[in-house]
Amino acid sequence: MSKKKRPAPQPAEFIPHLVDAHTHLASTGEAAELVERARAAGVEKLCTVGDGLDEAAAALRTAQEFPDVYAACAIHPTRAQELDAPAREKLRVMAADPRCVAIGETGLDTYWIKHSPEDTASLEVQEEALRWHIDLAAETGKTLMIHNREADADLLRVLAHAPAPPRTMLHCFSSPLDVAKEAIERGYILSFAGNVTFKRNEEMRQAAALAPAGQLLIETDAPYMTPEPYRGSRNEPAFIGHTAACVAQARGMRVEELAEEVSATFDAVYGLA
Ligand SMILES: [Zn+2]
Ligand SMILES: [Zn+2]
Repeated sequence: MSKKKRPAPQPAEFIPHLVDAHTHLASTGEAAELVERARAAGVEKLCTVGDGLDEAAAALRTAQEFPDVYAACAIHPTRAQELDAPAREKLRVMAADPRCVAIGETGLDTYWIKHSPEDTASLEVQEEALRWHIDLAAETGKTLMIHNREADADLLRVLAHAPAPPRTMLHCFSSPLDVAKEAIERGYILSFAGNVTFKRNEEMRQAAALAPAGQLLIETDAPYMTPEPYRGSRNEPAFIGHTAACVAQARGMRVEELAEEVSATFDAVYGLA
C-alpha cells in the first residue's frame, strides 16, 4: 500500500488587492521569487519583518528594493537580551527610514520561556524591551507591531500604561474572544494568520467576525502558520488567499470585498494613505 502524498501547496485562485501584513521573506526564501509568486496570486503589498538586528536590516533593504514591500524593524521578544545600547542606536536609524512602516515584532512570549528557557529572554527582559519599542513607535509615529504568545494579561497591562503609539497592531491574533473585545475597544488592529483556518480555532473566526473594518488585517507570518488545506507545509505570501477566504466567510462577505477592505486598512495602518 502506498502512503498518500501530501499535495504541494498552491495559491488560492487569483484575488485582486490582497495584502500580507506580516511575513518573514528572508526566512522563507529568495525575496524576488516570493514577491513574484505573491503578485501572481493578487498580493499587492507586503510587510516583511526581521527578528533580530541583522534580519531587520535585511528586511529594510528588501523594502528598499521592491516597491510593494515594506519593512517592520525590531528585536523579537524571545531575543530581547540583544537590545543593548548599540542595537538601540541602529534600530533608531532603521525606524527613521521611510520604508520602515512599523516597529515590530516586539511584545511578550511566555511559550518559549516555558519550553526553551536557556535561550529565551526572561519576561522581565522582554517587558523592558517592549517598553523601549513602544517609546520608539510613539516617538517616530510608526505603528507598533505586537507579538503575543501566551501573555495576554501582561501585554494588555503594559500597553494600557505605556505612551500610546499612533496605531497598535496585534500580529497573528490568537487570543480568546474577551481579549479580542478589549483590544477592539482600545482601537488596536487585529491581524489574522493561517491558524484562523484551523478547524479547532472557531473562537479566532469569531474574533475576525467581530473586528470592525479598519481594525482587521490578514498575514501569512511565513514560513510558519500555513493555512488549510496545506497546514504543515512551508508557508509563503502567495498563500494568503486561503486565509482571506476563511476570514471573508467568517465576516459574511465576498473574498474580493474583504481584500479591498484590508488593502485600505494596510494603507491606513502603515501610514501609506
Ligand atoms: Zn510573532
Ligand atoms: Zn512573525
